[in-house]
Amino acid sequence: TAPARDRLRIAIQKSGRLADPARSLLASCGLSWRESRDRLFCFGETLPVDLLLVRDDDIPGLIADGVCDLGVVGRNVLTETGLARGASGGAPVFREWRSLGFGQCRLAVAVPDSWQWTGAEQLSGKRIATSYPGLLRQWLEAQGVDAEIVLLSGSVEIAPRLGQADAICDLVSSGATLAANQLKPVETILESEAVLAGPIAEFDPVRAGLAELLMRRLEGALRVRKSKLLMFQANRDALPRVMPLLPDAETPTVMRLDEGDSLALQALCHGAVTWQRLEELKRAGARGLMVLPIEGMLA
Ligand code: ATP
Ligand code: MG
Repeated sequence: TAPARDRLRIAIQKSGRLADPARSLLASCGLSWRESRDRLFCFGETLPVDLLLVRDDDIPGLIADGVCDLGVVGRNVLTETGLARGASGGAPVFREWRSLGFGQCRLAVAVPDSWQWTGAEQLSGKRIATSYPGLLRQWLEAQGVDAEIVLLSGSVEIAPRLGQADAICDLVSSGATLAANQLKPVETILESEAVLAGPIAEFDPVRAGLAELLMRRLEGALRVRKSKLLMFQANRDALPRVMPLLPDAETPTVMRLDEGDSLALQALCHGAVTWQRLEELKRAGARGLMVLPIEGMLA
């Protein structure tokens, strides 16, 4: 057997939608790397945590083979690979450790605009093009629908126009690609986002310690990422209307500005501080609203 590794190796996408956000999330956990010339392997400097830059489809397999310890990959790819391995008799070896809050999309069934959608039974006997046969088959079985799955590795959305399929099952985020191909999403099969994937089996003590440290920092980094500091002024009598509008806020710091009723407030908000919410706060009596990002937080 190979000697136990005393460094943690994380696979991330080399280029594509998840590449930059994965890297910056790990960097916000205090990791940094010395780039290698080929940029396939990045040696960890601040911590013994290295990166392997690969195609996203390869990430679950690299974890399964023990080449990498962890990976950042779409739930769609992780689940589909798990189903494929299961179908060929393999025992589950990797799982989702936690969701990472970026790369949101959904795997959806889409049909031509001209169809009047009444439900899944409409797909009975139809051909559905997809790159996700495992997830689609599982969903069709759950719906009790018998349809033909046409496996395509890319450009799934043009299959109906080419006469290769009647409907498709593909990833959707804005829906613009579907609309451009005269298709409309009708059923969601999987809500997806980027996840940290890892083995089901336990690590040896050294890597377990590193993984635990990373998970703790990720927890903090993800929490801070969504949180904002909201600063504003308001009169005392406006507080009963203003306070309930603060998005998932911790108890605000309140300072008296003068001998009158004018107050200055600071609230740490964990919910989304949207423009709409700011406008509501203003209508409720908040003045001089300012939204500040949080660099770090240690409770
Ligand atoms: P690779 O060369 O690594 O195989 P890829 O072309 O398979 O790249 P991307 O298009 O970069 O992969 O998508 C990576 C992941 O981003 C998807 O698996 C999915 O989880 C997520 N994603 C988010 N929004 C979308 C979207 N609108 N379309 C496709 N994927 C999306
Ligand atoms: Mg891919």
